[in-house]
Amino acid sequence: MTTREDSVIINSLVRQALTSMEEVMGEHGLNVVLKTCGLDKFVGNYPPNDLEPSIKASQYAQLNQAIEDFYGRGGRGMLLRVGRASFQYGVREQAALLGVAGVALKLMPEKQRIKFILNGMADALKKSNPEVDAYLDESDGKLAYVESTCAICNGRHSETPVCYLYIGSVSEAVQWATGKEYEITETHCLAKGDEYCRFEIGEPKE
Ligand SMILES: [Zn+2]
Repeated sequence: MTTREDSVIINSLVRQALTSMEEVMGEHGLNVVLKTCGLDKFVGNYPPNDLEPSIKASQYAQLNQAIEDFYGRGGRGMLLRVGRASFQYGVREQAALLGVAGVALKLMPEKQRIKFILNGMADALKKSNPEVDAYLDESDGKLAYVESTCAICNGRHSETPVCYLYIGSVSEAVQWATGKEYEITETHCLAKGDEYCRFEIGEPKE
């Protein structure tokens, strides 16, 4: 099992996550979950939109775990929706950081559009935290988004991939860029002992 640094997540990213969770789960649902994972301090009190350190990555991972546990069989779908809402928050609130302000995607071929938005996501994360290692990989002929510092599964162990929120964000990003729903699969996950979390871009669903 790889030993991982327990890095710090900045206020603006926690704010983005909590806002998206509230949008999907409702205020009550979110508050219950925050209490079960020891993050009571965020009940009715989100961190400001700045770059100061907020919580540890492992606490963020536990928040994801708490949502999964609270909703049982519905947890996975809930986290996928939170991930989608989180990408939309980025487009709405952080267009410049994401690199999408005033970009004419329609002029690019579809694959270029996907690469553009996924590179934008990786760069935005790296700008918010220099320790983040996220990149696009095409080495086996498939396009994939890879992060070796994924916070969602920090300190978690599982037989199967667990980064549903991330799958949701990548799905929404690709849909935003192409207008199509693509199959996104988490093929590798740090929680199962892999060296990184890897999200493979499959085929369009229709
Ligand atoms: Zn992960």
